[in-house]
Amino acid sequence: MIKKEYSNGEITIVWQPDLCIHSRMCWHGPEGLLEVFNPFEKPWIKPENASSERIMQQVSLCPSGALSFYVNDNKEKELKTSEKFP
Ligand code: SF4
Repeated sequence: MIKKEYSNGEITIVWQPDLCIHSRMCWHGPEGLLEVFNPFEKPWIKPENASSERIMQQVSLCPSGALSFYVNDNKEKELKTSEKFP
């Protein structure tokens, strides 16, 4: 399975495109974070464009687990996937 990583130095966003169900929760509408998740640009994830806290909040909205993240200092312990929509 393809797995790509995008880091802002503090946290790393993990993207697994095969899991994406195209809900658009990450980028679309008022709740979206288009500065970071923009499917019309390359790379489509730009973690330097928002705070780590804001990114973590947005990743938690991903219903499929296609987006997850880990804190760079603590890769093993801190891997988070969508807990809101298991
Ligand atoms: S929120 Fe998750 S499932 Fe929805 S488009 Fe973004 S990555 Fe895909």
